[in-house]
Amino acid sequence: MSKHAAVIGGGITGLASALALSGRGHRVTLFEADADLGGLGTTFPWRDTHLEKFYHCFLPDDFALLPRVSELGLDGQMLWRETKMGFMYQKKIWPMNTPGDLLSFGPLNWIERVRMGLMGVRARFDGLAPSLDDITAETYVRKMVGDRAFEVMWKPLLSAKIGDHYSALPALWLSSRMNREKSSGPERKGCLPGGYRSLIDAFAKELAKRGVTIRLNARAQSIAQDAQGMTVALEGGGAERFDFVVSTSPIGHFQQMTKSLDVPASVRDLKLDYQGVVSAIFLTREPLTHYYWMPWVDSGALSQGVIEMSNLVPLGRTHGLHVNYLVNYTHRNGELFALPEEEILKRYRADLAALFPKAAATVEEQYLFRAPYVEPIWTTGYARAVPPNSVIPGRLYLACTAQVYPRVNSWNSCCAVVDQMLPQLFEEVQAVPAGGSK
Ligand SMILES: Cc1cc2nc3c(=O)[nH]c(=O)nc-3n(C[C@H](O)[C@H](O)[C@H](O)COP(=O)(O)OP(=O)(O)OC[C@H]3O[C@@H](n4cnc5c(N)ncnc54)[C@H](O)[C@@H]3O)c2cc1C
Repeated sequence: MSKHAAVIGGGITGLASALALSGRGHRVTLFEADADLGGLGTTFPWRDTHLEKFYHCFLPDDFALLPRVSELGLDGQMLWRETKMGFMYQKKIWPMNTPGDLLSFGPLNWIERVRMGLMGVRARFDGLAPSLDDITAETYVRKMVGDRAFEVMWKPLLSAKIGDHYSALPALWLSSRMNREKSSGPERKGCLPGGYRSLIDAFAKELAKRGVTIRLNARAQSIAQDAQGMTVALEGGGAERFDFVVSTSPIGHFQQMTKSLDVPASVRDLKLDYQGVVSAIFLTREPLTHYYWMPWVDSGALSQGVIEMSNLVPLGRTHGLHVNYLVNYTHRNGELFALPEEEILKRYRADLAALFPKAAATVEEQYLFRAPYVEPIWTTGYARAVPPNSVIPGRLYLACTAQVYPRVNSWNSCCAVVDQMLPQLFEEVQAVPAGGSK
């Protein structure tokens, strides 16, 4: 039986949810707080195309995302390229792609290099072993590579992603990340010629075709329940009634929105903070390097590294200009996050000038974007704390980044969360009479 569903959030989790629900014949209204769809993967107009506000790519093993790309008819357009990683230590760049590269990594001694290599093998072997959830990544890594290698390489890498909270990160998350980004063969990444914009537009087009109502600039403020169903109240006034609701906003927002509801303690009391990001784009006439991404450590920079998108995306898309993302993952309450845009751009540009003077002299344009809720700050034992999808059976569902664990936070992992939610949702929603109580 067709029901009326509200989907809160128009990032990938909301888009994938709306696609699946409408595919089952439900009437769907999607609420997006921003003026555009796409969430963290969204874009901004640039010349005759769009650029991603934050660097985004596909991986060949995006098992839950790529079927959606196919469903939307874009699979024939995917471009796959071998990409490389560099590692800058004290301003010197080291390739970091093969066992040979690791063995040549000068800042570590021979024994440390071998131990680092063995750690890669061990992480592959351990995979997603549940016991890794109860030890910290720091303990896991220190034990395998020693204290100095941890300080030189791993500590900066972990804190780059999660700041001071790195010491609480579970080894399970690290192992999942290492297995995702460094599977056995050469590293391959994918992109669409029209960028993430073409995927977001394809979602929007298909949703419109299926009769989904998309409400932009519509922030859900609270969710209420009565015997007839659910009510979503919007910021600025107005409320709409639904048979059921799927919320995809970060967990803290969800907890706020559902304060009046009797939600399980596993959802209500979950404490999960998020790390944010401050990301600048520099469009240069000259490339920086031939690496797709490169963290820099102990190199006197404020930013933590660079993603040179043009080593994946053909230069034709950006009129021959190289697209470089300089990033710093940092907390929304921190000093950097609060600085004025011009100040951050000035400081990041100084990083570029110090580390790549030749390319820095060819900057044509620069942009800055910030996002407060990006990486969930996982802590040990989180596997037991992952909140359920079904919050009020048949009425209220949660699909959000708090549930991707132990997978790496990505569009693929978000689609996997949706796939995990759907069977239970369809069954439970069917069991509730439309407009009536269960
Ligand atoms: C710098 C950076 C690089 C990344 N690189 C990659 C990559 O290469 N590959 C990859 O796959 N992933 C990447 N990611 C991760 C990816 O962006 C996230 O995993 C994904 O976007 C999360 O999707 P989501 O829909 O759950 O949340 P979001 O993208 O955050 O979307 C949530 C949406 O809900 C809306 N919303 C929130 N609350 C409300 C409300 N109350 N009412 C209405 N709307 C609301 C928000 O405005 C937002 O649009 C990257 C992220 C960042 C920041």
